[in-house]
Amino acid sequence: MATDRLIDRFGRLHNNLRISVTDRCNIRCTYCMPEQVQFLPRADLLSFEEIERFVRVATTLGITKLRLTGGEPLVRRDLPVLIEKLARIPGIVDVGLTTNGILLGPMARTLHGAGLRRINVSLDTMDPERFQRLTRRPGFEKVIEGILAAREAGFDPVKVNAVAIKGETDEDVVPLARFAREHGLELRFIEYMPLDAGNAWERGKVLYASEILELLAKEIGPLAPAPDQDPRAPAVDYDYADGGGRVGLIASVSRPFCGSCNRVRITADGKLRNCLFALDETDIRALIRGGASDLDLAVALRDSVAAKWEGHQINAANFIKPERLMHSIGG
Ligand code: SAM
Ligand code: SF4
Repeated sequence: MATDRLIDRFGRLHNNLRISVTDRCNIRCTYCMPEQVQFLPRADLLSFEEIERFVRVATTLGITKLRLTGGEPLVRRDLPVLIEKLARIPGIVDVGLTTNGILLGPMARTLHGAGLRRINVSLDTMDPERFQRLTRRPGFEKVIEGILAAREAGFDPVKVNAVAIKGETDEDVVPLARFAREHGLELRFIEYMPLDAGNAWERGKVLYASEILELLAKEIGPLAPAPDQDPRAPAVDYDYADGGGRVGLIASVSRPFCGSCNRVRITADGKLRNCLFALDETDIRALIRGGASDLDLAVALRDSVAAKWEGHQINAANFIKPERLMHSIGG
């Protein structure tokens, strides 16, 4: 078995694996997927056993943290069973989940009981009508119920992720912040990225982190950079001066954090991606189903990380948008 760590050409050490468990979703966020989608046939998805095997191999190369995503991970049947399997793997210290929260309410306790400790719920607006416009589905109340149930179940913090789109969600920044402060949630704004289905992304629609900070400072109160920042985390955290909580800004477009990236991703159909914006993938599923050894898998993972580029090219003239849409990468 290879024992090397996952260090790329730029000296970045990778310890974080994001696992998409499905490309399916129960809503249709306009910035993520089209209304009509051809989902993967079930046989194309990695089975729980295949995911578990890959994670075991990945731990031998220094992967310690996992995040389950999708599509909507909670639509994958028996997800708590997978969480339990993954949380028990020696070397895994942390299993997180990113969800749209629609199905979270009734599942929060089971997820916590299965060993899940970190949860991010995506919510872009406090306005039910805008929710329906952005997601093309109803469900706002269910998401709120899910967030509160997660707090009740013992998740601490519960993080709320909001995609910030200029001209669409500007008016949501302050109400979301108030909601988060009221319920002790950690709110994080994500700059809108060009991974949407309809090619609707344009630079003018990015509501920049700096603009969000200004809005919050003006409407809610002064903020200062958090003293205990994790320099490798994508969010830059700020604390309210009045002690009313924390807000994070994920400035993927205006201040890319590629220099400290520690992530690799595997899609629901088993394609390894060394960057959200990668144009090449490594077919782990074909290797597994073709009889590859653990060493073969480790080498494939190591080679993929070694080939990682320095950073995404969103801000370059020659930017090429990956063919995969956000829902089939996992965010
Ligand atoms: N369905 C789950 C959810 O929505 O949380 C997990 C998958 S979703 C693809 C993961 C994250 O990506 C969500 O927080 C979502 O808001 C974010 N996202 C999707 N499309 C995006 C885009 N074009 N720009 C920025 N973030 C995006
Ligand atoms: Fe579904 Fe999440 Fe994409 Fe929204 S962002 S369509 S919830 S996968």
